[in-house]
Amino acid sequence: MRVLVTGGAGFIGSHLCEYLLNKEEEVICLDNFFTGSKKNIAHLMSNSNFELIRHDIVKPITIEIDHIYNLACPASPVHYQYNPLKTIKCSTVGMVNILGLAKRCKARILQASTSEVYGDPLEHPQNEKYWGHVNPIGIRSCYDEGKRVAETLCMDYKRQNNLDIRIIRIFNTYGPRMQKDDGRVVSNFIVQALQNKPLTIYGEGQQTRSFQYVSDLVEGMYKMMNQDGFYGPVNLGNPDEFSIMELAEKVIEMTGAKSKIEYKELPSDDPQRRRPDISLAKEKLSWQPVVKLEDGLKKTIEYFKGQM
Ligand code: NAD
Ligand code: UDP
Repeated sequence: MRVLVTGGAGFIGSHLCEYLLNKEEEVICLDNFFTGSKKNIAHLMSNSNFELIRHDIVKPITIEIDHIYNLACPASPVHYQYNPLKTIKCSTVGMVNILGLAKRCKARILQASTSEVYGDPLEHPQNEKYWGHVNPIGIRSCYDEGKRVAETLCMDYKRQNNLDIRIIRIFNTYGPRMQKDDGRVVSNFIVQALQNKPLTIYGEGQQTRSFQYVSDLVEGMYKMMNQDGFYGPVNLGNPDEFSIMELAEKVIEMTGAKSKIEYKELPSDDPQRRRPDISLAKEKLSWQPVVKLEDGLKKTIEYFKGQM
């Protein structure tokens, strides 16, 4: 199998590349290094089944490929809001380019969509039938609406061109190889705690998220790609829900930090609650996450200790 992983030098992408190489697949990692880094994949470079291409998916590319995992897109609010127009282009023009590549190669393509397609959800927990509650003109829209259009494009390429697509909706995922300055909550809190700096809580910390460890996600991605007859969309996330305050307390306790809490303004459109209903993934993929938050945090804290 020749497999293309776009965004392969990023946090999730680098774990996926590693996983696929362990499955003896031939992996082509494509990345423009906006938020990804060569460090994330340096340990894979000596593997003869691994290739690296510096490329931006907003420009078309011609290569021969059997499977495509499309992960190229900045994922942290700090990064996707840095250049919102580029973020939208990535999920629209970039998506069309990658779907075009899949069409030409008759390749199977898995799109990394997101729980953000549910926006600030009015249903809880969120299942795949829920259409979402997304502000089309807010500061998160470049990402949320971009990913929604990307899903639409996948479905229309399927209906119009019979393309073999799969859509996964990833919920908040964390683990080693997140960037220190990634800006998402888990890495922020751990880095702050390891420096005994205040942990920055946006709002009052009562908003919730459900945190999935990266190895669970990668397992689910592989299962979704390598089965027949089910194209999704399917939620991949850990249904254990925590408030941001609970997360902060856990990180302080686990690191033994002397950090206090510093409250900052809640960014606009920040979803209040988020938790995946994973019944569909259980039924169709026999998949569910196995790593508890404490265990995943322990590994992630160890990783960041080595980065300080
Ligand atoms: P990340 O920022 O670490 O990885 C994104 C990668 O894509 C980076 O390596 C970046 O350099 C690359 N990239 C960005 N724009 C590109 C472009 N135009 N051309 C080529 N490469 C480009 O983030 P991540 O957490 O690893 O996220 C990976 C994918 O998973 C993203 O598509 C994201 O939307 C999706 N996702 C992640 C989460 C999460 O909690 N981590 C949740 C939902 C969805
Ligand atoms: N958050 C926080 N402090 C931080 C970073 C994030 O309180 O230093 C909050 C943020 O407002 C949100 C939650 O943590 O309510 C998760 O944020 P993240 O950026 O990790 O992911 P997303 O909002 O995209 O789910």
